[in-house]
Amino acid sequence: MGKVKIGILGGGASGMIAAIEAARNGADVTIIERLDRVGKKLLTTGNGRCNYTNILIDISRYHSTDLIIARDILEDFSYQDVIFYFKELGIEPFVDETGKIYPMSLQASSIVDVLRDEYLKLGVKEICGERITKITKSDHHCIVATEQEVYEFDRVVIALGGKANSKLGSDGSGLEILAKMGVNYEAPYPALVKLKSDFPYLKSVMGLKVNAKVTLCSEENSEIACDEGEVLFADYGVSGPPILQLSGKAIEMLNRKHEVYIKLDLFPEMNRNELYQLLNERFDRLRHKTIADTFIGLVNKRLIIPLLKHSSVNDFNSKPTRLNTKQIYQIVETMKALKIHITGYHSWQDAQVTAGGVCLSDINPKTMELRLYKSIYLAGEILDVYGDCGGFNLHWAWATGIKAGKSAAKG
Ligand SMILES: Cc1cc2nc3c(=O)[nH]c(=O)nc-3n(C[C@H](O)[C@H](O)[C@H](O)COP(=O)(O)OP(=O)(O)OC[C@H]3O[C@@H](n4cnc5c(N)ncnc54)[C@H](O)[C@@H]3O)c2cc1C
Repeated sequence: MGKVKIGILGGGASGMIAAIEAARNGADVTIIERLDRVGKKLLTTGNGRCNYTNILIDISRYHSTDLIIARDILEDFSYQDVIFYFKELGIEPFVDETGKIYPMSLQASSIVDVLRDEYLKLGVKEICGERITKITKSDHHCIVATEQEVYEFDRVVIALGGKANSKLGSDGSGLEILAKMGVNYEAPYPALVKLKSDFPYLKSVMGLKVNAKVTLCSEENSEIACDEGEVLFADYGVSGPPILQLSGKAIEMLNRKHEVYIKLDLFPEMNRNELYQLLNERFDRLRHKTIADTFIGLVNKRLIIPLLKHSSVNDFNSKPTRLNTKQIYQIVETMKALKIHITGYHSWQDAQVTAGGVCLSDINPKTMELRLYKSIYLAGEILDVYGDCGGFNLHWAWATGIKAGKSAAKG
């Protein structure tokens, strides 16, 4: 009997690793990729350094409508397994102070090179520059039509990615093809994306980076989630790691027509009383200066006037002795919870990942095979799971790609 013929549809992270696993398990493997080469998105990951996993891999860092199935899938593949897998291929891990793991070369191209070298050595064939448009299932075969050709395989792994950043390959066509086949999916929306705001002082603070604890709130007060790190102000709104992290939940709320705010705690290491004492002490010590100037050396200069105006202190050129207790408390409140109204989000083109996708209940989590169609396996971002920033999404791509590739070969 000849080898099982497997088509790996999509030459991204999950497809490349699935190809290795299928070939290692004895299959005759072909990758079909729409761009002129495989792994284009991988090359841009982690700002060109590829943050390929994280020591904090845990289900709490993932988002899905079915986290129990997601957890079952992830439990089979730890971050140590990822390190070991890539070490065998030649990647020495570098763990940064936050737990993110990169190749020691700090080059994403190292990851693409070792994956590709490995599968080419195993005899995997590549067809690049062909866009898949349709997948049909006959009794014994999977028929894959591209814009140019029709291919026949015994089994296929669909690793066509989500919809984020189509310049890098995934344009949502995978989900469209599966939807036409009757597979259930959660409507996709961009995640890990910059947020738009009508904050009135954006022009003055554009380009400014501040360290803050960020709390996402809906309808002004109810707190939904929080994160901490560097927030970047831009002409359109806000960005930076904690904003990207919270963006999925913010978009979910915006799509449900809720009012969405973020609150920035610019002094997370001090409580309100401590900050009040500090301000009072400074106003006294620096009483010869203007109110605005007493903030120099405490907060970034470009933030001073916005903070004061936001606290309804408009006579900031007068002396601090003019301030009453209520006003000082109001300034403290602004510094601890600077409220920024979120009005929208950047487009798919700017998003790092796709939220939503094929429902996990539609696949067998032990094999990644579709329940509706035998011999069709799924891997990666096309599924209804996305992770936080920090290597969690690639970890998901490896975990599902390995499982799908191996199961497809074994049948
Ligand atoms: C700028 C950026 C930086 C990122 N950085 C990180 C990071 O550092 N760490 C991390 O964990 N995650 C990161 N991510 C997310 C991560 O890259 C993805 O979650 C991961 O690549 C998903 O893998 P995948 O195999 O499912 O899909 P993809 O990697 O998107 O691969 C899908 C492949 O299928 C091909 N394809 C799509 N449709 C068709 C079609 N119809 N016919 C043929 N081929 C098709 C695409 O061209 C693509 O090559 C980043 C994402 C972006 C955009």
